[in-house]
Amino acid sequence: MKAIKVTKPFNIEICEVERPEIKSPDDVIIKVTSGGICGSDIGIFNGTNSLAIYPRIIGHEFGGIVEEVGENATEIKVGDKVAVDPVVSCGQCYACRIGRHNVCSSLEAMGVHRDGGFREYVSVNKRNVHKFNEDFDSSLLALVEPYTIGMQINSRGQISKGDKVLIVGSGAIGLCTLDVAKRKGAEVLIADIVPEKLEVAKKMGANRTVLVSEENLEKAVDEFTNKEGMPVIVDTVCSQSSFEDSVKMASPAGRIVVIGLIDTPSQIAQADITKKELTIVGSRLNCNKFDEVVEAFESKELKPELLKTHSFDFTQVKDALKLIENEPEKVIKMVLNFD
Ligand code: MN
Repeated sequence: MKAIKVTKPFNIEICEVERPEIKSPDDVIIKVTSGGICGSDIGIFNGTNSLAIYPRIIGHEFGGIVEEVGENATEIKVGDKVAVDPVVSCGQCYACRIGRHNVCSSLEAMGVHRDGGFREYVSVNKRNVHKFNEDFDSSLLALVEPYTIGMQINSRGQISKGDKVLIVGSGAIGLCTLDVAKRKGAEVLIADIVPEKLEVAKKMGANRTVLVSEENLEKAVDEFTNKEGMPVIVDTVCSQSSFEDSVKMASPAGRIVVIGLIDTPSQIAQADITKKELTIVGSRLNCNKFDEVVEAFESKELKPELLKTHSFDFTQVKDALKLIENEPEKVIKMVLNFD
């Protein structure tokens, strides 16, 4: 069978690899139908993902049809349509013991720390498998994982009905966060530098969009909040200055969610946090958010079809990466078909 492997930075190949077999009674073999390309896959490709070890079969956003099940995986049947949670944790450390396995001290994500899902068949633990109940468009299975990131961000920011929320950045994660926040009944202002991405945000129900090349974001926040400052800010731009700006724009008692993995420090004074008693939280991967996303996909309360702007056969992965590099303003989520 074939797999997409990054053998070293800037070298991606369709390789022949061994088809997986059931090795433990908890194993489930999945015939992959679709996989989404994420910024972190691109980071592994171009050598900027510090967590990557080469060679690596990439892909952490994927799903497919169950092909074979181990004897302990009784709740999963051959033919089930499933999405796969890429988070693998130890179950023993402090974070795992208090139910936050997504920040396990020896965390591994499929497609990053270990081989991932961009291959025709993959073997995963039954714990990581999440079933769709109804007939569902297989090409959207890959969209579940990015939505779990949006769900986790909403949960970390305690976003709920009536909250005013600023989302900085209208890429895939910003849009997933928006879609989930709207489902929860929040009022959302979303900002970006790409008009096409803000158009998608409008279709997802954004209350206000700001094209930052043409409009001052701080002024728009003042208008949106009657100069109270923003109660909740989600920073998906993740630069040094976007974090600094979030602290400035937050209202007293506000909450800020950060998701960046850059290690260059931002300049934030303690007084700015103390005076407003801000809550600043990180959000990483997802903690048991798959089932809620699957449910919301099935009930059509979320709109993953708006996120999927492109789809390519997996053998065309080089062309897909080229398109993302050359026309980043057009691509929100590139989905690879493995069928
Ligand atoms: Mn991703």
